[in-house]
Amino acid sequence: MEKIKMTTPLVEMDGDEMTRVLWKLIKDELLLPYVDLKTEYYDLGLPNRDATRDQVTLDAAEANKKYGVAVKCATITPNAQRMDEYKLHEMWKSPNGTIRAALDGTVFRAPIMIDSIKPAVKFWKKPITIARHAYGDVYKATEFRIPGPGKAELRFTGADGSQQTATVYDFECGGVLQGSYNKDTSIRSFARSCFNYALDKKQDLWFGAKDTISKKYDHTFKDIFQEVYDTEYKAKFEAAGIEYFYSLIDDIVARVIRSEGGFVWACKNYDGDVMSDMVSTAFGSLAMMTSVLVSPDGKYEFEAAHGTVTRHYYKYLKGESTSTNPMATIFAWSGALKKRGELDALPDLVRFGEALEAASLQTLNDGIMTKDLCGLAEGITPTPVDSTGFIKAIRERLEKML
Ligand code: NAD
Repeated sequence: MEKIKMTTPLVEMDGDEMTRVLWKLIKDELLLPYVDLKTEYYDLGLPNRDATRDQVTLDAAEANKKYGVAVKCATITPNAQRMDEYKLHEMWKSPNGTIRAALDGTVFRAPIMIDSIKPAVKFWKKPITIARHAYGDVYKATEFRIPGPGKAELRFTGADGSQQTATVYDFECGGVLQGSYNKDTSIRSFARSCFNYALDKKQDLWFGAKDTISKKYDHTFKDIFQEVYDTEYKAKFEAAGIEYFYSLIDDIVARVIRSEGGFVWACKNYDGDVMSDMVSTAFGSLAMMTSVLVSPDGKYEFEAAHGTVTRHYYKYLKGESTSTNPMATIFAWSGALKKRGELDALPDLVRFGEALEAASLQTLNDGIMTKDLCGLAEGITPTPVDSTGFIKAIRERLEKML
């Protein structure tokens, strides 16, 4: 069989620990035998980030901007313990944070669903994708502990020297104070990324904030979303037969629980932080969550939502076999290949990505699973396998489909 051709390279960002081991297995078993894989390779493993003083992360982000589609392996975000373990020169920043900032992107997380793993919410039949605005608000807030009585004021001094001042509270005792902000440009980028993603997936977009209470702050989010929708996306949404729906965040939460899923849920920064953990846990397993970073001008970076699975890696180093679930990493590759195929008009590449996903789902539906899923499966007797066994089982099914 002739291998499937590519025209533009994918930006390939390798990573750390167990996911780096899976990365190679996936390429060797599921990609290289079938696709004439064209990638521009960046080694984001921690030793190389340290050796290049993190320049490799910046270069990878630039390549992502240039070519438009990247696929990323999970990477270690160093802390004090990792400084020691890897003898690092510096506590390098999270690569995901660096790439997100470079692309001004929004992260969309969606679960991979299979028949035998039922969501904790019985109404949910289709995936719910969470889009989190990863900029500003409480994450960039300035906070004081107020020691005792006194007046707290909020003041803005314009570049022209004009001022706006308001009393926040006249404290008669100790307390707490917080100042948070966001920017119109960031909210607008977030809105565009969300509208683009919904159009791409042909799914409705829901957005909720607390505009009745927060009449300036949250109301601005609501207004910018509406303005961007009316001026840039309304016609496209109507043509695609999908809807944009705004409501109060509490109403949205209630509707999400009663819904059958199948939509994109845009969340402000804190809401997204909290709700993405709730939604991913309710759908089953972190190992089954995919993640894609989308920039407002349509650049994509696909990855798994989970980390490098350190506990398994230490077992692997001792020579023990591990049952790490590669599903989300496989779907990062299939997502990136499908998107590359779509952009370059390569239908064979798109079909390959679809077949890879179908073969992976078929393997799970046949009851062949990594150990993390065996305890969650209902209505079947699962056969637990290690990572290599699982990937080989996918390959058998993929061969047949191709
Ligand atoms: P983790 O996602 O690696 O693991 C969290 C828990 O989920 C563990 O109990 C693990 O056993 C389980 N788990 C996760 N993925 C699994 C899989 N594919 N198969 C089976 N079980 C799985 O997160 P962590 O332990 O908090 O972090 C480990 C490292 O990963 C850290 O160094 C952290 O900086 C990094 N990290 C990277 C990313 C990223 O690159 N996107 C995200 C999160 C954490």
